[in-house]
Amino acid sequence: MVAELLDGKRVAAEILEGLRRRIACLPHPPCIAFLRIGENAASRFYVGRKVAVAKDLGIRSIVEVFPEQVAEKTILEQLSRWNSDGEIDGILVQAPLPSREFQRSAFAAVDPAKDVDGFHPYNFGLLAQERPGGFIPCTPKGILRLLEAYAIPTDGRHAVIVGRSLIVGRPLSLLLQSHGANATVTVCHSRSQQLRSIVRSADILISAAGQPNLILEDMVAEGTTVVDVGQNSVPDETFPGGHRLCGDVDFPALRHRCSHLTPVPGGVGPMTVAMLMENAVEAVERKFPGNRRNDPPIEQKCFPS
Ligand code: NAD
Repeated sequence: MVAELLDGKRVAAEILEGLRRRIACLPHPPCIAFLRIGENAASRFYVGRKVAVAKDLGIRSIVEVFPEQVAEKTILEQLSRWNSDGEIDGILVQAPLPSREFQRSAFAAVDPAKDVDGFHPYNFGLLAQERPGGFIPCTPKGILRLLEAYAIPTDGRHAVIVGRSLIVGRPLSLLLQSHGANATVTVCHSRSQQLRSIVRSADILISAAGQPNLILEDMVAEGTTVVDVGQNSVPDETFPGGHRLCGDVDFPALRHRCSHLTPVPGGVGPMTVAMLMENAVEAVERKFPGNRRNDPPIEQKCFPS
């Protein structure tokens, strides 16, 4: 068996083309404000990528970078200014922040109507209650869209998620167990026992642990769909800069064991960025409902109407 690759780059490109048409119907393109703290290489890369894709779509970006030692008050004041700025449609606070508590305060300080990353407790509550009108976090939303694009059924199947973060694992578990997806969901984390046997029982495995080679060939049953969210930089002298990007799974070995597999890069990453753009377009469409194109937003696909 050779796994079919879930080509996030291709699916994301199709989604972005649809967004171009939606943006053309709006009185103005969206404007996203990005806030980044410190010089973490991954954060710099993620924000840079999002800004580049936004630019290509005609979406305006504002980027504010603060030093690692910035006071929480300074960040909350910046977010408050953006909340009341009518020119800004979406706000994204790039994770990770200096501490988990800092991150929670910053996420909660974003106006829920501009929370295009979907991490505000209000939007998280809407997701948990399967109520429309919020924003769904981009990576989980992108994973659902990728499964949909390849017609991979979730209904009644066992989805195992490795990782319980606020950014990926936790919201993904809510989406997958919703009445739109109907999966039976197990969430594992760093304190889980029997990871191997739980992973082996998965029909759909989503690994978001950030640990290279965590998921090995003998842990995965034949025919499993494997979604690798991990983005890990590992030393490799054969690559420019002496590092290469890899996911959490042993890709070459699993390629001959799974039914479907996401590559890293080119799988979940581009879907995350496309979903951010979609949420930003959605934010403007909510302000101008008369200018909304009739492409159904994701909420209608994931949740019952
Ligand atoms: P995080 O560090 O906040 O969470 C990691 C989770 O994995 C935790 O819940 C932890 O308990 C669990 N975990 C860690 N080691 C484990 C182990 N050995 N066994 C079982 N569980 C374990 O990270 P995050 O923000 O959720 O990101 C996870 C990974 O996904 C990272 O590599 C990150 O770069 C990547 N990521 C990719 C995208 C994308 O668009 N492709 C988006 C977000 C995050």
